[in-house]
Amino acid sequence: MTAEIIDGKAIAEQIRGEVAAQVSRRRQAGEPPPGLATVLVGDNPASLSYVRGKQKACREVGIDSQGFHLAEDTRQEVLEKLLIDLNADPKVNGILVQLPLPSGLDEEKALTAISIEKDIDGFHPVNVGRLAMKRRDPMFVPCTPSGVMVLLQKTGVKISGARAVVIGRSNLVGMPTALLLVRENATVTICHSRTENLPEIVRQADLLVAAIGKPKFVRGDWIKPGAIVIDVGINRVEDAGAKNGYRLVGDVDFEEARQVAGAITPVPGGVGPMTIAMLLKNTLKAAEMASIKK
Ligand code: NAP
Repeated sequence: MTAEIIDGKAIAEQIRGEVAAQVSRRRQAGEPPPGLATVLVGDNPASLSYVRGKQKACREVGIDSQGFHLAEDTRQEVLEKLLIDLNADPKVNGILVQLPLPSGLDEEKALTAISIEKDIDGFHPVNVGRLAMKRRDPMFVPCTPSGVMVLLQKTGVKISGARAVVIGRSNLVGMPTALLLVRENATVTICHSRTENLPEIVRQADLLVAAIGKPKFVRGDWIKPGAIVIDVGINRVEDAGAKNGYRLVGDVDFEEARQVAGAITPVPGGVGPMTIAMLLKNTLKAAEMASIKK
């Protein structure tokens, strides 16, 4: 069997097109463009590049983005004061604090300072709590996990009743993805670094989500024939032949897994593009909610 390749780039492109069209309809109706504020503390090169990518994506769909770049040694009170000011700014519909914050800053306190109506990353403890509770709806769902769900849905696979295995339990990816799968009535097993007999557990999965951060960690013979494999991992591995001296690979050994799986996401071009597309979608949703409230 050779797996169907789930084209995250094309699906993300379609979502970005839909957001751009909706932003343009809003403008024609005299509504202001949605506004996103990005808050970056320090000069972590990966974070700088992620924030730039998000701002560029905003411009492309007509979302206004304002960037706030604070020094590495910014005090907690200064960061929180900025977030409180942004909460009160009607031109800002969504606030994104780029993680990780430099050590010395309290991430939970910072995320809690964001108004839940502007929490487009879905990391506010109230939104996370609602995601975990039955019959409660978070205002926003974290972008990478919601991108994973869209990719799964696009394969047409039945999620309800399926056996899902999520490898990784981070606040950012693993745990919210597992919660979303449970909400869709999958039977979910969450695995992590202390899990015993991981390959055996993975072999039971109809749906497998890998969010580990270890290159090609999941081998082809761990995968149940026909399973849907969503590889969230983005890992740099040395490659002398590549322009930058490295290339990106996922947490799953793609070449092995594609011989067994029913469908699989590539890295790059799978989950990565979906994360930004879902961020744009969440920012538009925040603007629409603000318009209704007016
Ligand atoms: P993280 O916070 O480091 O979490 C990694 C998880 O993997 C942890 O729960 C850890 O378990 C588990 N783990 C580590 N070693 C393991 C092992 N040997 N066996 C089983 N589980 C193991 O990472 P993250 O933020 O969730 O990100 C995971 C990957 O996704 C990274 O490659 C990251 O770059 C990528 N990512 C991609 C996107 C995207 O847009 N595509 C977005 C975010 C992240 P413990 O909890 O026990 O430590």
